[in-house]
Amino acid sequence: MNAQPDRIDAPWRGAYRRGEALARHTSWRCGGPADHYFEPADREELKAFLAGNGVDPLFWLGLGSNLLIRDGGLRGTVISTARLSRSEWRDDTHLYAEAGVPCARIARSAALQDRAGLEFLAGIPGSLGGALRMNAGALGGETWQFVEWAEVIDRRGDITRLARDEFQATYRQVRQPRPGWFIAALLHLPQAAHGEGNERIRQVLAQRGATQPTGKATCGSVFKNPPGDYAGRLIEACGLKGHRIGGCEVSTVHANFIVNDAGARAADVERMIRHVQATVRAQTGIVLETEVQIVGEAEEATP
Ligand SMILES: Cc1cc2nc3c(=O)[nH]c(=O)nc-3n(C[C@H](O)[C@H](O)[C@H](O)COP(=O)(O)OP(=O)(O)OC[C@H]3O[C@@H](n4cnc5c(N)ncnc54)[C@H](O)[C@@H]3O)c2cc1C
Repeated sequence: MNAQPDRIDAPWRGAYRRGEALARHTSWRCGGPADHYFEPADREELKAFLAGNGVDPLFWLGLGSNLLIRDGGLRGTVISTARLSRSEWRDDTHLYAEAGVPCARIARSAALQDRAGLEFLAGIPGSLGGALRMNAGALGGETWQFVEWAEVIDRRGDITRLARDEFQATYRQVRQPRPGWFIAALLHLPQAAHGEGNERIRQVLAQRGATQPTGKATCGSVFKNPPGDYAGRLIEACGLKGHRIGGCEVSTVHANFIVNDAGARAADVERMIRHVQATVRAQTGIVLETEVQIVGEAEEATP
């Protein structure tokens, strides 16, 4: 049910804007506007907003590092977790973090405390909320291995704490027991040897620098790895490295990355995704599934 649109312009402590350009909020630097955009100042304001405000549908935005938002943008309300950025150590091995905390900050905080396991998050430019939703992972580690519980908020602003075993987390996919969005989690991180975390982070970042187009406008890996193979290997074997459509190209450094290096529109990137899928399927019979989330409306063609 749509809530009362007359209350949405209330003087929120966070940010409320109409027609927000979402290209500013995605790592691919493309995508159309949000009809309504809300960045709650904290969880209390988020609760208050959801209890009777907001034009549906709602779309949850973290740091936009795994999103292709089409050029026509998103209807309804985009809720950004950017300001839900509180974190604290609850005891020696438990870190509480809100959904908007950047993954890299979690990795650094754990390393400083000599806690092990989440070093892989240092190279992932998303938020904790996005990492929970995607079960983000790298180098054999996955976010949900370290979750003790997560707090989920529903459309009415009610918050429920759910234990890890109520979720089914698999490769880049999480099934949750009830509808809602992540607002925080408690992470359990075992003790590590002194200095080990910082050294592992250094290795993680060095490896990325050597094998990925870091510092460019990408969304990381576009496709999931199919069972027993690597999407990047297949795309490269099909001769697609360096292939260009509009303002984007298949990275010459790592074929599972599409780089927006010349003002690509979301439509260019989506055409590239479909072209890569069709080529790989025609040459190998393998269907590549996207890891990146593709959302929003295509821009209407001008007559
Ligand atoms: C250079 C680069 C390298 C990357 N490397 C990796 C990697 O090694 N491993 C990996 O797994 N990923 C990687 N990624 C992808 C991306 O960083 C992760 O998927 C990350 O977890 C997404 O977080 P985000 O905050 O950016 O989410 P967004 O892109 O903002 O959103 C992604 C999805 O999560 C949903 N979402 C966001 N916040 C919430 C919330 N609070 N509650 C519910 N749903 C929510 C959104 O609606 C959307 O469906 C990489 C991306 C880039 C650009």
